[in-house]
Amino acid sequence: MQTTEAFVGLECLDCGGSFDAADEPGRCPDCGGILDPTYDYDALDPSRNSFASDAIRAGRAGIWRYESLLPFPREAALTLDEGGTPLVDCPRLAAELGVGRVLIKDEGRNPTGSFKDRGAAVAVSAAAQHGATDVALSSAGNAGQAASAYAARAGMESHVFVPSRASFVNKAMINVHGGDMYVVEGQIGDAVEAYEDVMAERDDYYSLQTFVTPYRHEGKKTMYYELIEQLQWETPDAVVYPTGGGVGLVGMHKAARELRELGLVDELPPLYAAQSEGCAPIVEAFEEGRDEHEPWEYPDTICGGIEIPDPGASRFVLEAVRESGGGAVATDDQDVMDAAATVALHEGLEMGVSCAAAASGAWELARTGEFDEDDTIVLLNTGAGNKDADLIRSRLMAKGM
Ligand SMILES: *Cc1c(COP(=O)(O)O)cnc(C)c1O
Ligand SMILES: [Zn+2]
Repeated sequence: MQTTEAFVGLECLDCGGSFDAADEPGRCPDCGGILDPTYDYDALDPSRNSFASDAIRAGRAGIWRYESLLPFPREAALTLDEGGTPLVDCPRLAAELGVGRVLIKDEGRNPTGSFKDRGAAVAVSAAAQHGATDVALSSAGNAGQAASAYAARAGMESHVFVPSRASFVNKAMINVHGGDMYVVEGQIGDAVEAYEDVMAERDDYYSLQTFVTPYRHEGKKTMYYELIEQLQWETPDAVVYPTGGGVGLVGMHKAARELRELGLVDELPPLYAAQSEGCAPIVEAFEEGRDEHEPWEYPDTICGGIEIPDPGASRFVLEAVRESGGGAVATDDQDVMDAAATVALHEGLEMGVSCAAAASGAWELARTGEFDEDDTIVLLNTGAGNKDADLIRSRLMAKGM
């Protein structure tokens, strides 16, 4: 494998076992736990200025600026120059929330319109290094679209299992990228089952499944490197994240801990998990003081990207929320769609429906007195609003607009 200098290998988050990345493409061979890429931080000696500047000088955009803290170098990566997304100041929202600043990290500007591209870039790069010809995953939609795009770039076949309620844009673009798509009747759990049935028969399919591949949260962690640089190394007072499986949240928490380990920051940003009331297993576990979620039996929300009733890594999501001093909040679908429309109307910024759960969640947190008047609040717009134009528009029509 072609890896970066400080990359050591994979460590199991459950049993602590260490493994060679060349040997293990998925879960821990000993206990089935999640594998996490590790680095020799002592071998790196970045300053805030030099953190990514060699890469910047080389003209590299996006996540590969941070290649010293990724497993693979850019020259061995499958990339569409994902990442490098703007942090947009939203002064009217700040006034409405009664805080100092609200900033939206606009992940909708990624190559396939969502932050899933960050994870797909690193995971498909790993697949290529393992010699994969076929990749497979189940997805609510955006991860499948991203995987099919990167697999197309890599010359691999992608096998994508989506529930019938996945958005039209996702399904259409999986087709356009040449993906082998299985539209499974029902919800995400049904798509996961169909994926597992096929995987049991196929040992030549390389899994890109959430928290099976060790590399999706690793790719998504770059959101926090970008954020803290864009904030000139001022730790935000809250980062509100629309949470499904929590891959991005776990990734950002890891990134913040790495920067602290490297001596570049002292503080961890308080991370808030925002969900829809129609599927809020993480919020429920947080409020009840539990370490793990209970599967949500009847998930029902219009926020497809975060409709994950059984998030397998909830222990790590809850740990990140608690260790960072954050929280968890759920709002209902009507509030979520109103939030998407309000952000579009007041700031011009187009939020996806799942992402707008972070906006309506921030309103709710402000209402309950969670924020101070000079706080800096960051919302993650994990996907482009125009993927969900029909949903947001129909909410306006329901109100006679
Ligand atoms: C996948 C997705 C999420 C949730 O991501 P996790 O990291 O699994 O919690 C949120 N928003 C959008 C638009 C998504 O596609
Ligand atoms: Zn293990």
